[in-house]
Amino acid sequence: MKTLQHKHIIKWFELASLTLRENKDYLTKLDSEIGDADHGFNMERGFNKVHNKLEEFSLNTDLGAIFKNMGMTLISSIGGASGPLYGTFFLQFGMAIVTKTELSLQDFVTAFEKGVNGVKLRGRASVGDKTMIDVLAPVADRLKESLSENNTFEKVFSDIVKSAEKSMKSTVPLIAKKGRASYLGARSVGHQDAGATSSYLILKSLKEAIEE
Ligand code: ADP
Ligand code: MG
Ligand code: MG
Repeated sequence: MKTLQHKHIIKWFELASLTLRENKDYLTKLDSEIGDADHGFNMERGFNKVHNKLEEFSLNTDLGAIFKNMGMTLISSIGGASGPLYGTFFLQFGMAIVTKTELSLQDFVTAFEKGVNGVKLRGRASVGDKTMIDVLAPVADRLKESLSENNTFEKVFSDIVKSAEKSMKSTVPLIAKKGRASYLGARSVGHQDAGATSSYLILKSLKEAIEE
């Protein structure tokens, strides 16, 4: 597959909503170890609102508008730190693809990078701080590398999910430097970051969305 179409984006948001719902207790358990035990609830709530908009999104061919609406929906419905961060990701992603009705790999890579830069600017986290950035930033790098390889979306998404899974697991031994977990200092070691985990799940649903 060489272009990502409207139907794939709708499927992505639908599968992400379902996956986050299914993993609500898991995400909450991770956040209970080094946070305030609400990440599962937060993500489920935000993505339920997105799920409610899928019909509206399926009638709109402007992908930029859909991503911006998606981002605003997350910002306005998630109470925790993850709401503005994920919201910014999708909002900035949307800004990069204004009026496009399908995405080339180049479009996707540029928009993803813009999204990640938005999260970095907003949360001031770097790789190694034990946050969602530990998953998102290496994926952005991997995506940029993929441009020179002339690969299909199938191959690229399969690669980034593997990278995301590794990065998610790599948060376990880290000391948290940002967010609530950072209040624990060295006691945050030995636990997987909840936001890195939800980022992995969102990327896994992207891979699945183009397989159907
Ligand atoms: P809260 O911490 O407000 O309860 P959530 O539990 O929904 O919000 O989200 C926590 C997750 O948000 C963390 O696991 C981490 O991945 C991510 N996070 C927190 N602060 C930052 C930040 N400054 N930059 C990037 N990600 C962050
Ligand atoms: Mg929390
Ligand atoms: Mg909270």
